[in-house]
Amino acid sequence: HLAVIEAAEPSIKAFLKVSGDVALEQADAFDAKSADEKAALPELAGVPIAIKDMIVTKGIETTAASKILEGWVPPYDATVIEKLKAAGMPILGKTNLDEFAQGSSTEHSAYQTTHNPWDTERVPGGSGGGSASAVAAFEAPLALGTDTGGSIRQPGSLTGTVGVKPTYGGVSRFGAIAMASSLDQIGPVSRTVLDSALLQEIIGGHDERDSTSIPEGPRPMAAAAREGLRRDLTGLKVGLVKELGGEGFQPGVQARFNEAVELLKAMGAEVTEVSCPHFPYALGAYYIIMPSEVSSNLARYDGMRYGLRVMPPEGVPQTAANMMAYTREAGFGDEVKRRIILGTYALSAGYYDAWYGSAQKVRTLIINDFKAAFDQVDVLVSPTSPTTAFKFGEKMNDPLTMYLNDVATIPANMAGVPAMSIPAGLSDDGLPVGFQFFAPQQRDEVMYKPAAALE
Ligand code: GLN
Repeated sequence: HLAVIEAAEPSIKAFLKVSGDVALEQADAFDAKSADEKAALPELAGVPIAIKDMIVTKGIETTAASKILEGWVPPYDATVIEKLKAAGMPILGKTNLDEFAQGSSTEHSAYQTTHNPWDTERVPGGSGGGSASAVAAFEAPLALGTDTGGSIRQPGSLTGTVGVKPTYGGVSRFGAIAMASSLDQIGPVSRTVLDSALLQEIIGGHDERDSTSIPEGPRPMAAAAREGLRRDLTGLKVGLVKELGGEGFQPGVQARFNEAVELLKAMGAEVTEVSCPHFPYALGAYYIIMPSEVSSNLARYDGMRYGLRVMPPEGVPQTAANMMAYTREAGFGDEVKRRIILGTYALSAGYYDAWYGSAQKVRTLIINDFKAAFDQVDVLVSPTSPTTAFKFGEKMNDPLTMYLNDVATIPANMAGVPAMSIPAGLSDDGLPVGFQFFAPQQRDEVMYKPAAALE
């Protein structure tokens, strides 16, 4: 994989940092184990993995693709990294993303633009475009991402890879750099559904260092994926989300989605249409709740605790407040500043009830939509993204069009339910299309079976 990385990186630019020495050391340590020790490890032992640079890695620079964290070498590992190390999985390096995971194209990285291996003139999606491209270009067999509004699933859709957002609280967020804490979740990126299942079993489970971690072990996801590979879905109730599809969705995306639904039926699934009437409001509510949490979480980058510090120029009073202002002005990119300003406004006195309070009510309605839907069906399905991969620059000057790419992924984060995107063939433009499954909270295995059956 290190050789593939070397060959592919000039045209793909998925990695911010390749940790070849660390990976080889970890691989040697795995090789040195006895047969018994190896047998006691999970099935993915010895398989290398790439990590989104939103997850902290002890001794390996971690920047969240922001200038404000440039040069920061974490003194500790995220829980998921500890678990990968214990499982004998070497770490290939840190992958590119939109700064602080804010974006849908990876163009908001402060360092570089990642290219989609299917067409290097196009974006890989975002924010986890680095992890998705690394897996799609065979630079890494597996990767980790973070998903706040779709940042694992939408890049999965645009690069033809599998991407999973586990149940909120199913995978520890300890050591995941916070974007919007009530929505953030770490999850797998892979080329097959079974690989994601095996990886989620390794990284999942209770962690007392994350107060929102669910006090329960990982679900039997690999067994469900293996069962799915028998391609018998008799009795499975599948609901098509009426509100996610049709208008605004590229015809080629809708066509591949419809064909995949026919395949589910052919394997014995009972398919009906289900209405989730409040989903059309999810995007609007997300763009109030998410920036509010961003404005609070990113207050910690104050020039004192981590990374960059910019002192005011001569003639400007050398106060802490000025140092903070100059550091943040230089260290944050435009999109991050836009969200901090939006969030600060939404939370300010006099506006709080009108904006944040209303958005939270919408969030409850979305949770109730999912509950009502899962009273009728086992899994819900939709296209993952309304479009295939778009060209560089196409949506950069129009944040609202960029935001619309996440209409179908955001409802899962708002409700904390698990969801995943799997490849569903190529659209008329020759680019990958993603098919999305949603399952009830803490029932992640329920989506793994039909996903494996369909792939
Ligand atoms: N694209 C979405 C956003 O810009 C989702 C980001 C994410 O999931 N981290 O907020």
